[in-house]
Amino acid sequence: MVMKHSAIDNSHKNGHVVQVSGLVKLYDELRAVDGITFSVRRGETFGLLGPNGAGKTTTMRMLAGLSPATDGSVMVAGMDVAKSGRDVRNEIGVVTQHDGLDTTLVVHRNLEMHGYLAGLSYRDSIRRTKEVLGFFNLETRANASIHALSGGMKRRLAIARAMMSSPQLLVMDEPTTGLDPQSRNRVWEQLGALKEAGVTIIMSTHYMIEAETLCDRLAIMDHGNILDIGEPDEVVEHHVGAEVAILQLSENATTEERAALRRQLDAEGRDYSEVGPRFLVTAPKGTKPEVATLTGLAPMRVTYRPAHLEDVFLFLTGRELRDE
Ligand code: ATP
Repeated sequence: MVMKHSAIDNSHKNGHVVQVSGLVKLYDELRAVDGITFSVRRGETFGLLGPNGAGKTTTMRMLAGLSPATDGSVMVAGMDVAKSGRDVRNEIGVVTQHDGLDTTLVVHRNLEMHGYLAGLSYRDSIRRTKEVLGFFNLETRANASIHALSGGMKRRLAIARAMMSSPQLLVMDEPTTGLDPQSRNRVWEQLGALKEAGVTIIMSTHYMIEAETLCDRLAIMDHGNILDIGEPDEVVEHHVGAEVAILQLSENATTEERAALRRQLDAEGRDYSEVGPRFLVTAPKGTKPEVATLTGLAPMRVTYRPAHLEDVFLFLTGRELRDE
């Protein structure tokens, strides 16, 4: 089916559907979002990455008009989210972490009700329900109870519901968390199809593979700030280079040898992280990490692998746990 978009479309004089400027959210003393600025181009899939508590959900809630900003502004499709009421809300489809489906209604009624509440006429809501059920391959489940759906189907239905008003922008908080790999793939396929249809997507995720697969650009957030923003490859190349050296210490390595290696890495100002018996050494800006000065300090095996987004994530946001 064709995912049609409504006529309100005056934001792309500069090609941006979303413009976030100096956005701040305070919860008492806590600066949950600390003055972030970014834009998202029409048709782009844009990822928000960051540890627990980084401010991703808070950012998306402000983007979708679900929570007022303390300061700054969000423009979507040329309209100020804080001021434009239903006009702008109909341009934004929202999928929260909890699907929020109405378990007292069967599948097609969930969609129709949502369309109706979004301002579609009864007839248009029924027509649009048929379209989205087809697009999301849920036609055979139209009369099913919500309880009868698998986790993957519920998630697809929640995305389908967000598309009822034919929004230009889809905002999704961790769209595949908790799904098995097959269901996750199915959601990815359907997000790919929405992108093909021209929908702009902003999504948060904790899955680096998801960000690498789906996102044209992404922002890495921590403590309410954006630490870096760019295309996944660009961000990897910039922070951790093309390759990571893995120094796997042998079982015979002593605590002193391990400490000596750490001292040398620190003395050379190297970027590295420790993962169990391994030291992962990176070299930013495209160079391959040189390890000749390190290999004599402890018995070890050295291998190289391509750098990926997870390396950048840990490099930028550190290794300490955020929920303890
Ligand atoms: P996660 O990956 O765990 O979903 P997140 O990046 O989405 O995390 P947020 O949920 O935006 O993070 O939270 C940012 C900070 O704001 C956290 O410290 C959180 O405890 C705090 N916070 C969020 N909502 C509220 C609220 N309603 N009242 C007070 N503090 C809040």
